[in-house]
Amino acid sequence: MFCYQCEQTTRTDSGNGCAMAKGVCGKDQVTADLQDLLIYGIKGIAQYARRARGFGISDREADGFILYAMFTTLTNVNFNPARFIAMIQEAARLRDRIKARYEEAARDRGTAPEVLNGPATWQPVDDMDGLLAQTASAAVTAGREQVGDDIVGLRAMILYGLKGVAAYAHHAHVLGYESDELYTRFEEILDFLAGDPTDAEALVDQALAVGQLNLKALELLDAANTDSFGHPEPASVRMTPVKGKAILISGHDLKDMAALLEQTKGMGINVYTHGELLPAHGYPKLRAYPHLVGNYGGAWQDQTREFAEFPGAILMTSNCLVEPHPRYRQRIFTAGPVGWPGVRHIANGDFSPVIQAALAFPGFQEDGPEQTVTVGFARNAVLGVADKVVDAVKTGAIRHFFLIGGCDGAAPGRNYYTDLADRVPEDSVVLTLGCGKYRFNRHEFGAIGGIPRLLDIGQCNDAYSAIQIASALAQAFNCGVNDLPLSLMVSWFEQKAVAVLLTLLSLGIRGIRLGPSLPAFLTPALLEQLSARFDLKPITTAEADIEAALHRAA
Ligand code: SF4
Ligand code: SF4
Repeated sequence: MFCYQCEQTTRTDSGNGCAMAKGVCGKDQVTADLQDLLIYGIKGIAQYARRARGFGISDREADGFILYAMFTTLTNVNFNPARFIAMIQEAARLRDRIKARYEEAARDRGTAPEVLNGPATWQPVDDMDGLLAQTASAAVTAGREQVGDDIVGLRAMILYGLKGVAAYAHHAHVLGYESDELYTRFEEILDFLAGDPTDAEALVDQALAVGQLNLKALELLDAANTDSFGHPEPASVRMTPVKGKAILISGHDLKDMAALLEQTKGMGINVYTHGELLPAHGYPKLRAYPHLVGNYGGAWQDQTREFAEFPGAILMTSNCLVEPHPRYRQRIFTAGPVGWPGVRHIANGDFSPVIQAALAFPGFQEDGPEQTVTVGFARNAVLGVADKVVDAVKTGAIRHFFLIGGCDGAAPGRNYYTDLADRVPEDSVVLTLGCGKYRFNRHEFGAIGGIPRLLDIGQCNDAYSAIQIASALAQAFNCGVNDLPLSLMVSWFEQKAVAVLLTLLSLGIRGIRLGPSLPAFLTPALLEQLSARFDLKPITTAEADIEAALHRAA
């Protein structure tokens, strides 16, 4: 096992990366190795899918499978070895199907099919021991002795970025939004990785191409969400319990959320969002369900305590799941890419078992004291008052925007983001997205001329909204995004954040502060390169970073 895909990876003097029997996230060696094998199998599909497209052949089932399967390998998504064995076999089946179609098409046109190697020829064996014996060439560090840490780090950055793209594109896919252009580019980049590339410049170019691809995925997801559920509108969300039977739904999947709301209609069960589903309250078509009563709890790393105290059923629709505690293991369910051995999984969208569990548990015995937060400042809502915002900047009422966005996590250094939000000067606005906001979204920020000082753009899945807001402001001021009084303080934890970071870099955005620690796959040489090119830098202290941001803008 070797994995350094997330921020909490093991860091020691002798090297960084989870390489022991169990990663910090709880992923065991078997699951980690099977995930590597699955990625290897997916590269094999891409090798043939890419060439088949040259003959006008595409396979939507394989395209969708690639997204779903890659999503299962993100941090805190799926820990179930049995699911990985099944997906590895499925990957080989799909690859062989596309291979056959490609070779037939080539022969029909009188050309010899290319003879491919690596993942294209891999035959997964049936039993676990045999499979695990095949992991050497699939490891993220494969070939390190020959090519060195920088090349391995660049390959990892591309792979992890692609995992993020897969997650976003999968959420769009389940809502019926697909793009051949996205699939084509995705498979081209996977095919590139399958060739074990060693040219550093080409690898950096591909990493930036992942960023551009991610912008496409985010745009597709934005269209999927807003077309399906309406544009988010500012909405006040109750953060405390309401008396009655209860279901808690966590993760990022709005389709599952809509299905659960529909299936619980009129049953006297209150539905609460948790974690990254908080922004769902801003969508008019979800908000319209009166039994969507509020949000319970905060970011993912607090779930063990919060789920134990929640007196109803729990549904985890996507990341970030941590090992379910026995106190709630009988009443937590997974859906979509998520999995944990022994936890009931709902694969068909029928949430009856969740509803039955909710009815069997007592629910909340009384109402909690009313407390609310406001969500729903996605691009439509913010750009709807763009004139007011632009005027406020022109008159000096708004001096600066701080985008404090991204994931949360358990590392102590994450207090930086709370400090930062609290210390942002009174004449500046905080934009936020992702679950890092739970560190400060109950604080009182007030407003500037009717514009709230804390604008919650949404999930990390809504990074497109943030980019659109920044672009629109740049247009209004007739300048580039880098010239705006805007500083980006990105809090990264897992691979979707890697994808968003690559998107921002590919858009030429400079001066991003990244924390709480830098990715372990960014070697000193890679960091130096990114710093020189994009002025990417680590966080320091809240005071110093605010000072530097305001000084730059002055
Ligand atoms: S996902 Fe993160 S914590 Fe888990 S094994 Fe990989 S690097 Fe370690
Ligand atoms: S923002 Fe990141 S860390 Fe937070 S729940 Fe979403 S994926 Fe997980």
